[in-house]
Amino acid sequence: MENCIFCKIIAGEIPSTTIYEDESVKAFLDISQTTPGHTLVVPKKHVADIFEYDTNLAATVFQRIPKIARAIKNSNTSIKGMNIVNNNGAIAYQSVFHSHFHLIPRYSEKDDFKMNFTDNSDKYKQEKLNHIAAQIKKQFKE
Ligand code: 5GP
Ligand code: ZN
Repeated sequence: MENCIFCKIIAGEIPSTTIYEDESVKAFLDISQTTPGHTLVVPKKHVADIFEYDTNLAATVFQRIPKIARAIKNSNTSIKGMNIVNNNGAIAYQSVFHSHFHLIPRYSEKDDFKMNFTDNSDKYKQEKLNHIAAQIKKQFKE
């Protein structure tokens, strides 16, 4: 897609530090290096976000993530865990609109990385949860 920075990286028009590549995905180091080894896994087919994946593309991309994650983890004995993050939409902090998965190796509690979910459980009685779930379940089609 024109003017897509990740399509340009995939096409080799913009350099990247690639760690894995095959016919369907490319994995390269994120320039921000939130922690050392911070990697982006991107489908070679341009899709803006998770809402545009069909089941084949989803299977193809997700199938590769564990082996890429393992390779990163095995590359450094100091890596103790990994956050896998996928932002969808500007409201959700997506800034490049070619879908990608962040693989962020975790070394210690002192890593410069924050992802804390607010606990609102005291505000959600079962009735409210049931209502939300019913609205979502209605959307699944055969
Ligand atoms: P988002 O905010 O959309 O979830 O993540 C986009 C990521 O792409 C950011 O972490 C940013 O550092 C990374 N990024 C943006 N431009 C480039 C680039 O030209 N090369 C690389 N390697 N990463 C990029
Ligand atoms: Zn693209």
